Amino acid sequence: MTDAVRQLWGAPVEEALRARPGLRLADLDARATPGFTGSKADGRAAMAATGVRLADLQERLYAHGRTGGTRSVLLVLQGPDTAGKGGVVREVLGMVDPQGVALRAFGVPTPAEREQHFLQRVRAALPPAGRIGVFDRSHHEDVLVPRVEGLVPPDVLERRYDEIVRFEEEVVAAGTTVVKVLLWVSADEQHARLRTRLTQPEKHWKYDPSDVDARLRRGAYEEAYEAVLERTSTDVAPWYVVPADRRWFARLAVTALLHRALDDLGLGWPAPTYDVAAELARLDASR
Ligand code: ATP
Repeated sequence: MTDAVRQLWGAPVEEALRARPGLRLADLDARATPGFTGSKADGRAAMAATGVRLADLQERLYAHGRTGGTRSVLLVLQGPDTAGKGGVVREVLGMVDPQGVALRAFGVPTPAEREQHFLQRVRAALPPAGRIGVFDRSHHEDVLVPRVEGLVPPDVLERRYDEIVRFEEEVVAAGTTVVKVLLWVSADEQHARLRTRLTQPEKHWKYDPSDVDARLRRGAYEEAYEAVLERTSTDVAPWYVVPADRRWFARLAVTALLHRALDDLGLGWPAPTYDVAAELARLDASR
């Protein structure tokens, strides 16, 4: 992060956004910009500047992965419909080399997936060494929809929270930094965004009638998301809650969180496995 950008953050991003115990999503101001003191224009400039750093760090991570390194980063994106997961993927991950990104979106489990343990499809999608993995929805969906819809017995649901915590601990121990982000959009802003999907023909394809059903169960979903935060936010894999009514802030915040995760890896450039001077001489001699 450049000094100019750092000054716009009144508090380190990971402190400003980390899920606090007992957080009530109904009380969250989704238009807030926690930790960030600048305007929208400042936010755009900060995002571009941080994006340049992010691209450099991502290239180092990729280089390490190509030369025997074992580290990787996993960005888990959760949030209600219209919270802006797709925009984050496009605008934030769009700033780094696509070769270094492993994106996976999780939809309703297929009949074959339902036969497996719920973590199996997720395990299979973990990022290889050197990559930034992105989960657009994730294993956390398995304690959201089933809880709200009553699809699994309570004891199975209870067990899943613990399984998720253990799974994420394992993933971190294997060298993957896990960054979990809940994008939170207010009911009013969600209404406005869904309305746009219905009033603009080019957005009709994005509308799904079931989005309104989920809206009608917003209270139950809030409670389910709060349980996810409460039960699965750990020191090794904490949740960050990003107010997402202002798209520019949500994208900036995820950029800053990812930047922080990659910066913490402290990666330089890998040392060459060959004699640079000798190769230079050989190359020049080949002219
Ligand atoms: P989005 O709404 O994320 O932009 P989409 O509607 O285009 O995505 P879909 O392929 O329809 O994507 O999948 C998203 C849907 O799948 C969501 O309604 C989500 O709740 C559901 N889903 C994902 N994982 C699970 C799960 N494990 N159990 C039940 N439902 C799930």
